[in-house]
Amino acid sequence: MTVFLDRDGLLNQDPGKAYYVRSLRQFRWIPGVFGALRKLTESGARLVVVSNQAGVGKGLVKPEALDAITKKIFLDLAAAGVKLDGIFYCTHTPEDACGCRKPKAGLFRAAQKQLKLSKTDRFMVGDTERDLAAGRAAGCRTVLVLSGKTRTAAEVKKFDEKPDHTARNLREAAQWILSQKKS
Ligand SMILES: [Mg+2]
Ligand SMILES: [Zn+2]
Repeated sequence: MTVFLDRDGLLNQDPGKAYYVRSLRQFRWIPGVFGALRKLTESGARLVVVSNQAGVGKGLVKPEALDAITKKIFLDLAAAGVKLDGIFYCTHTPEDACGCRKPKAGLFRAAQKQLKLSKTDRFMVGDTERDLAAGRAAGCRTVLVLSGKTRTAAEVKKFDEKPDHTARNLREAAQWILSQKKS
């Protein structure tokens, strides 16, 4: 099983009006994330972060700041007993019209290839309709969490791309994913 994870609004607090997490100091884990990811790790799931970070392409986030945040994510998760297989970023702007910015599936394909992921039993968890569309395009079952940009079930009703499941946060999303696991 592979669980693809968005970053902002799922793992760490969404930057909201600031738009981008620009420094290590602005990166704040959402409570409950470590325990949820540990359960997924213990179930044998491979965990991959797929994240749009257009702030880099726009010059608003320094590449060094993104690197520092990435290092922190790996270190904190390892300390919490979580095995994270990889983090894949799209740092392009929408105008770049790249193939990796979600809702496109390029980041998933890159991860697939680089990490030799299984093509069965794939899930995508994120906080926006764009995450759901990208996950769907990559052949994943999708879970929307209400811990980031999307806050209510009423908002989800307006989505063209509906999730397979809606959860309050990653903890509940992980519970649902583990309940879906065959074998
Ligand atoms: Mg997000
Ligand atoms: Zn891109």
